[in-house]
Amino acid sequence: MKPFPRAEISSRALQHNLARLREIAPASKVIAVVKANGYGHGSLNVAKSLSSADGFGLARLEEALELRAGGVTAKLLLLEGFFRSTELPLLVEHDIDTVVHHKSQLQMLEQAKLDKPVTVWLKVDSGMHRLGFRSDEFAEVYQRLLDCPQVAKPINLMTHFACADEPDNDYTRKQLEHFNQLTAGLDGDRSLANSAGALYWPSSQQNWIRPGIALYGVSPVVGDRGANHDLQPAMSLVSQLIAVREHKAGESVGYGSFWRSSRDTRLGVVAIGYGDGYPRNAPEGTPVLINGRRVPVVGRVSMDMLTVDLGPDARDAVGDDALLWGPALPVEEVAAHIETVAYELVTKLTPRVAVCLD
Ligand SMILES: *Cc1c(COP(=O)(O)O)cnc(C)c1O
Repeated sequence: MKPFPRAEISSRALQHNLARLREIAPASKVIAVVKANGYGHGSLNVAKSLSSADGFGLARLEEALELRAGGVTAKLLLLEGFFRSTELPLLVEHDIDTVVHHKSQLQMLEQAKLDKPVTVWLKVDSGMHRLGFRSDEFAEVYQRLLDCPQVAKPINLMTHFACADEPDNDYTRKQLEHFNQLTAGLDGDRSLANSAGALYWPSSQQNWIRPGIALYGVSPVVGDRGANHDLQPAMSLVSQLIAVREHKAGESVGYGSFWRSSRDTRLGVVAIGYGDGYPRNAPEGTPVLINGRRVPVVGRVSMDMLTVDLGPDARDAVGDDALLWGPALPVEEVAAHIETVAYELVTKLTPRVAVCLD
């Protein structure tokens, strides 16, 4: 008996998506971004499925250590770098690359005594204005890293895009030019592109792309679908009907009693709710796929359950599968109903959802 709700992860889809990204960016190596538990897919599942990736990107040291403990030997990169000096010896011990985006990190490196130098990726703020050094600080920081014995040479260079998911937005071209100009002639590898950069801005691909969402088969662009890029959704979020009920016209359902049926119908109760990470604010009409039909969520999503209107002629039964998203119901479509992005839906699943790798 399979548990439910469960997130079924297709290692074949993950592998297909990596191969597809290599086709899209043939000259680039790939840092597969598996932060936030592999965007909800299980970071170790993803790393094992994608053992041919050139490296993995994480947001926190703990995430990187989890991969090392799970036997992953590939290159690992902390996308926001280290936060405390006590993390530096662990970077050395476990051979983890770090981004350097702030002078506090530079100081910690200069004051550290390490057994081996650390591989760093110097982050330039080319226009995102979240992390990274501004152009007027860049030369000084670069020189200090060169002079720092705790830092391996050459120094790698990176930046991050603010608007790469808007294919018509010229801001990305400006960021790209800014980065290229600032780093011209320097040694070291370069990495600029997230998924959207890799898909829409080929000149940003350079030495290393850093795709996250595209590896999971999801498009980074609102209104778009992974399938439009020949990417395959890697996650199917599946639960079951635990009740099918006769429902009379005019009756309400659930907390707040705000939805009322205009007709006699059958309602289905699906065992998934906000306690599993399915958003409470999913409005009426958010689709759920049951026996090949898209049926609408009605009433308020509760902690452990949600209700759908199966229709008056429904023949669905207790125990039937309900797909919340997956290849036949793209997570991008569900996200559009909930007015969020697919990134948030897949990442927010709670530990109550069993993550099963096939
Ligand atoms: C999360 C992250 C990525 C991956 O972004 P996607 O849009 O999921 O491809 C790439 N680079 C950095 C620095 C990140 O933080």
